[in-house]
Formats: sequence, structure tokens, C-alpha cells
Amino acid sequence: MSEKAYDLYDLEDKYQRSLDDCKKFLVSKGRVVKGTKISKSRIDYMVSIKATCPLCGAIFNGKNSNTEHILPLGLGGKNVANNKIQLCVACNSAKNNLIQSYLGQPPYWKYYDDKWSTIKKFILWSEFVSDEGIRFSDCVPSMHQRFLDARFGGIEDNINVRGYGRLSSWKVGDEPNINFDQRKTKKVLRDPKDKTKSGFFSMIESGIGILGDKIFSDKKKKIRPKTRVQNTQVKEIINLPIKEKELETLEEVIIKLVGKDEITLQKLGNKISKYENKRSGGKGTREFFATYGHKGTMKNILEKELGDKIDISGDHPNLQIKINSLESLEQVIIKLVGKEEITLQKLGIKISKYEHKRSGKTGTKTFFTTYGHKGTMKNILEKEMGDKVDISGEHPNLKIKIKL
Ligand SMILES: [Zn+2]
Repeated sequence: MSEKAYDLYDLEDKYQRSLDDCKKFLVSKGRVVKGTKISKSRIDYMVSIKATCPLCGAIFNGKNSNTEHILPLGLGGKNVANNKIQLCVACNSAKNNLIQSYLGQPPYWKYYDDKWSTIKKFILWSEFVSDEGIRFSDCVPSMHQRFLDARFGGIEDNINVRGYGRLSSWKVGDEPNINFDQRKTKKVLRDPKDKTKSGFFSMIESGIGILGDKIFSDKKKKIRPKTRVQNTQVKEIINLPIKEKELETLEEVIIKLVGKDEITLQKLGNKISKYENKRSGGKGTREFFATYGHKGTMKNILEKELGDKIDISGDHPNLQIKINSLESLEQVIIKLVGKEEITLQKLGIKISKYEHKRSGKTGTKTFFTTYGHKGTMKNILEKEMGDKVDISGEHPNLKIKIKL
């Protein structure tokens, strides 16, 4: 089981396949496959060891559970063990209510165009809780809260979960693999000076998690928390309006294609052609600009559309373009980390905010893509900044410090 701290960037990476499957299904108005339940032997086994629903802790009795498809069949999910999980009837129907409260009645492809952002969040949430359990599902707060509303009237109970994740992750005879108590007592290295919370929970809180330490300390005293402590900073970021379009704006494309270096307009033209070919199968900058309703010379279009965000210099035919507003990756990281040692999770949040200011989009993924990087933050930073940074600690409590 994973101990990784997740942000939406990580989740999108981790569950890319489900997102792709769903997208394909919706675009092609695919046919919903028939679902089947899990085997009786598994159900009997779960009953015999008093396994619980992995989301709410209800003890299975053989009749009170359903097989749920993690990526719903109506969103292109497949009827395979990796996409199945056994939930209690109430959680199963709360999940169905959740998706329908956003999407209405199936077929869901009707909603693809304007609801993709919501569908995506639902999928990430559904996949994540199936692997990690409900306690750790706050990385998609809107979904999490709505599920809690549907299932528990808003506040999660003080639940004790001893359940199983996706069907492919266990077999008869295995111990439950979603076990909240086990996680709660997980031993973590912590700074002895930090008496406020364990490293693990501070990671959750600072990364995505939102469950503040108050809940956990209350829980120890067996007091049921009355209010959920939200990490407002994190919430703010995750709730930023996400503009999800199939079509990137002209500005986004140009900034991405030019990158951080100064390049010739000729080279940019080649890149645009490639981009257009990927997008529409067409080629040529003319087609690209026409998509955005532009005609004329590239220089004029770019100056008109991007204004002082770019600098075009030189003489025809050796015109050069540079993006003005783009700081180098190194400059940004140095600025965001500052003088202190901070966790990579915290840096991720800062990057997300920074990116939103810059491009209107969220996510560390967008940020790093701008500089042509993919992969884990640690690898990118080590590669780009070499010995200018110090990355220490163990995953998921990695910390970064700028070397002076
Ligand atoms: Zn349940």
C-alpha cells in the first residue's frame, strides 16, 4: 500500500489510465459493459473475519454489500477485478448519488463537454478512496464533502475500518488492506521539536490532506469531532476554478511552444505546425491561427494576442521571439522555497498558486510542462537545480532547502 502524499498532479498521473478510458468512452459514446459481482467465496471470507466496508466501517454480514465499479461502468469502467471493490449498500448508493448529483441520469456522455472537470474529479476521488480509504480522500474536497453529505449527513463518523481495497489487491486469506487504525499508528520520523503533529499527518495536512491535527488529537481522546478542520490554503487551491477545455488558448500554446529560450519565428512556426498536426491532423501555421480566428502575419497575430507578454526582436526574416513573463524554473523555485527548509508538498502548493497566477491553470504538472519537464518533482528539481538544492528525508516527507 502506498504511503505517498498526493496532490492532484500526482493523482492525475497515477490514475491517467482511468481518465483516458473514460474520455475515450465518452467521446465515442461507448457501450456500457455488464457488471458482475465478486465471488461468494470472497464474500464468505469477508464475513468470516468481520471485514468492514472500506469507506464507512460497516461490518459485512453477507447481505449488506454490493460490488462497486470504481470507474463506473457508465463512465467507461471495465468489469475487471482491478476496477471492483466491495462496499456496503449505503456507501454504494451514496457514491451513485454523488455522481448523479453532478451529472444527472446516464448516459453520461451527454455531459462530456461541460462537465469533464467534474467527471475527472469524481474519478480521481473514486480511485483514490479505493486504494487509500475514505480518511485519505480529502485531496478532492468537493467530492469528499459531497460523499460525506450523502452518506453521513456531512460529518464522517468516528469509524474503524478493516476492509479491502480493489479486488485485484487481495485474495481469500489476506489481511484487510485498508485499515485506518493501522495507518493512524504508523511510525514516522519526526522532528522532536515539532510537538504539534506527527510528520505523517503534517504531510497530509500540508500536501493535500486537509484533515487538521485537531481531528486526530480529538480522536485519540475518543471525542467525536464536531467540525472538520480545513487547511484553508490547500482548499483555496484545489477549489480554484479549473477551466477545462479541449482547446488550449492561443496564448497557452505559444507560451508552451516557445518555452524559456529565445527562438526564431521560423522555429516557432515549425513547432506550431507540429502541434497543429497532433491536434487536428492538419499542418501549417495558417490552420492553427485560423482556429483562433486569426489571419495575417505571425508577427502581427502574436503581437496582437500576446501584447507585452512577448518580445519580438530582429528583422525579417530573422525575427526572434521571447516570452517575457516567464521566469526560469530555477528563479521560481528559489523564490518559492525561500530561506527555510520546506516540504516538497508545501512547495507543490506554492507552485500551484504561482502557476494559477501565471496561466490561470492549477497544478504542478502544468508548471513543469512549461519548462519541458515530466516526472516526479524530486527528479525534476535535482536535474534542473543540481547542487543548488538539498533534498533530504524519506518519501513522503521529503524536504527541500536552497543551498546558499
Ligand atoms: Zn460503507
